[in-house]
Amino acid sequence: MDKNLLEILACPICKGELLFDKTNQELICKFDRLAFPIIDDIPALLESRARRLGSDE
Ligand SMILES: [Zn+2]
Repeated sequence: MDKNLLEILACPICKGELLFDKTNQELICKFDRLAFPIIDDIPALLESRARRLGSDE
């Protein structure tokens, strides 16, 4: 994914920064413990699309 795009993306819930998980192709908000999927290179920054992270992630 484009690194510049990543820098302008923010969590839709807390507006905090997102971390790109290359392995899972997800954007992670550590604060909310949510992972947003990237579908066809387009981040789906919707709470309804997010996956809740387990305690070991
Ligand atoms: Zn957040």
